[in-house]
Amino acid sequence: DQQTLQRTLTSLDGRGYASYKQLTGSYDLGVFRLFVDKVQVDPFAPPSLMRLRLSRAEAGFPAELLADREGRIATGDFLTRAFAAALRGSHKSSPESDAISIGTPGQQVLERTSVLITEEFIEARLAVGLPAAGRKALGRKAARLLTETLPQIAEAALLHGSVDQDALQNHVTLYRDQAALQAELAARRLVSFVADGAVLPRRSGDSDRPLAEAAVQFRSPESLRVSFELPSGRSLTGMGVPEGVSVIVGGGYHGKSTLLRAIERGVYPHISGDGREWVITRDDAVSIRAEDGRAAAGVDISPFISGLPSGTDTRSFSSTNASGSTSQATNLVEAVEAGASALLIDEDTSATNFMIRDERMRELIPAQREPITPFVDRVRPLFTERGVSTVLVAGGSGAFFEVADQVIALQDYTLRDVTEEAHRIAARHAAPAAPEVTAADAPAADATAPGAATPATAPGIFATAAARVPQQDSLRPAKKTKPARGRGRDAIQYGREDVDLAAVAQLVDAAQTEAIAKALDRLAERADGVSDIASMVESLLREVDASGLESLSPHRGHPGHLARPRAHEIHAALNRYRGLKVRD
Ligand code: ADP
Ligand code: MG
Repeated sequence: DQQTLQRTLTSLDGRGYASYKQLTGSYDLGVFRLFVDKVQVDPFAPPSLMRLRLSRAEAGFPAELLADREGRIATGDFLTRAFAAALRGSHKSSPESDAISIGTPGQQVLERTSVLITEEFIEARLAVGLPAAGRKALGRKAARLLTETLPQIAEAALLHGSVDQDALQNHVTLYRDQAALQAELAARRLVSFVADGAVLPRRSGDSDRPLAEAAVQFRSPESLRVSFELPSGRSLTGMGVPEGVSVIVGGGYHGKSTLLRAIERGVYPHISGDGREWVITRDDAVSIRAEDGRAAAGVDISPFISGLPSGTDTRSFSSTNASGSTSQATNLVEAVEAGASALLIDEDTSATNFMIRDERMRELIPAQREPITPFVDRVRPLFTERGVSTVLVAGGSGAFFEVADQVIALQDYTLRDVTEEAHRIAARHAAPAAPEVTAADAPAADATAPGAATPATAPGIFATAAARVPQQDSLRPAKKTKPARGRGRDAIQYGREDVDLAAVAQLVDAAQTEAIAKALDRLAERADGVSDIASMVESLLREVDASGLESLSPHRGHPGHLARPRAHEIHAALNRYRGLKVRD
């Protein structure tokens, strides 16, 4: 069979590139079986898709490593990295190996389709650019690539006997511990845990690797220190960020955003050596920022904004071009709709008028004339009514002191619990006036504001918002011919439009974006004009749990390089699709 492959390829040498098509099929390469699922039609098309399979018995990985879901995800991630490293390593001796790719994992360990582990076999999913000279097939070179180079790399990367066994064991143990810690956070009423000794700063704004020199290690303030005992026997101490409202303060450049960013990324486990391996956040914590220009479809932002001069009904707010404050309100409400239990907000990326309004402004512009009820007035009801916590960076305003359960200060990258001081200061400055009546609260104001008939107060400010139901055909772009596809991390091409995900901070990998693109197509197939967004996404993810990540792909065989996104990022993409329309 290996000979068949060799012979076929040799016979193709010098012929038109399209003749590679006849490779489609499967070949026995000794220990491995090669599946050629999809052959590119020309050298400039996306690479050909192939799979390399070997039996679990041949691969020889101890059953214990692969016994649970965590073990299989971590092992799959490890083998993907090992394969990518073997590709890089073989580049000198066989330069054609750079035509092969298995995906490029970053600092996070994610469930991926790059390596599939089943009861029977282990399978690597590859993209291969078949060699060409101009538009001619280089069959001999291709033969060397597929029958010599590829099996060599696979032998180095996919056999238990050839990988670094200690490193693999540690990778799996780390991942299991991280998952166990994350699963315990809710029961301990913590939003996030940041271990003593963690290294939070990154090398540069465009690198996710740890700052190599002069990083100040994290140290928890005594008052917030908690400890964990993990399944491996490891015990850890560090800062537990409790549920409720936590405010991070401190001078500019003292490390506030760096801490929040680490907490934000802590929804994913990080590889050993990252510095954030023990920064673990609940997996339903969501970063919220202003994102002016984004579209919105029928979102109830009335807890924050009502009585707009245009007469827009903010209980069902739609826009093709939201402002700073309305976009931030939209992001927040959508996150809660998607099930967020904690919000992460940085002043650097917030609309000031969404967050606060100071005393002088309250005096000059009466509340009845101000459509915005700032977040500072809503952050507590959000927690008491909906159980949604907030972790907030605020270096420029003390407005949050009195609504904060914890105030922690960063000075020279070192934390101090300043809750008592902050509360004392807040009490000293407390305005004796009765609580303000804002446009959002006041029936009088509402009566004059078109379309805002019901006051947002009773029974609660965040009384369950009506679920949004997409109009049946609004998820399917007009004139759509091709499947949705990811364009790097930041965008999805969907029909003729790009869904812009640049502002979706917790999307970390282009393979997640690709998976979300596939999810959008699946959701469009299912939209029935009755199901709401949250339950549609939930049922899709339940199927992914049952049938594997690759079930998102419409293709049998090679599913493409996908990494698992959270429900929140699927919601984020759907909500940013400009065609989305919801039913009244
Ligand atoms: P802030 O939000 O308080 O203005 P940043 O979080 O943006 O501050 O941090 C300012 C700079 O300090 C960044 O370049 C960041 O990489 C660096 N930095 C943050 N934390 C640490 C740390 N623990 N050790 C060393 N450098 C740090
Ligand atoms: Mg900052």
